[in-house]
Amino acid sequence: MEQTIALFPGSFDPYTIGHYSIVERALPLFDKIVIAVGINRNKQSFLDVEKRVEAIKSLYTNNEKVEVISYDGLTVDAAKKYGARFLLRGVRQVQDFEYERNLAEVNRNISGLETILLYTLPEYGHISSSIVRELASYGKDITGLLPPGMKLHRKE
Ligand code: ADP
Repeated sequence: MEQTIALFPGSFDPYTIGHYSIVERALPLFDKIVIAVGINRNKQSFLDVEKRVEAIKSLYTNNEKVEVISYDGLTVDAAKKYGARFLLRGVRQVQDFEYERNLAEVNRNISGLETILLYTLPEYGHISSSIVRELASYGKDITGLLPPGMKLHRKE
């Protein structure tokens, strides 16, 4: 039988407890989730793509339903490559909703792929990668904003 695969695309710079929670809650819906770290050559990154992939992979070593990859180019092309019929995204507040709606429309129009949106748990609604980066840049402890057990090794 064909597997139901979802691609969860994002910058994940870094992967936060909010992202982690979306994957945990989506796992019962799919046979497999491919976490796809997008390579954005125009954006100065906090963590190298390889480091992001490595850190995310370390969370799922015992979970064969989760695969972690990086991709260049269009998200829908990455989805096709990995056999995903769905895109998974998270929505925190209204601003996310508008943005995600446009993205979902475009992706459906160009590829037929449907986007599955999950609302963030209220306790994670204020967490974003940019907040984590900001706090880290001032040397604050960000452990509570990252998935349990995740360690970041930054380039220096
Ligand atoms: P992008 O640069 O593609 O927006 P992000 O890494 O910022 O990538 O986010 C990937 C997805 O995770 C997006 O759908 C975003 O709305 C969602 N997301 C980000 N932070 C959270 C959070 N705290 N809780 C739930 N979903 C989140």
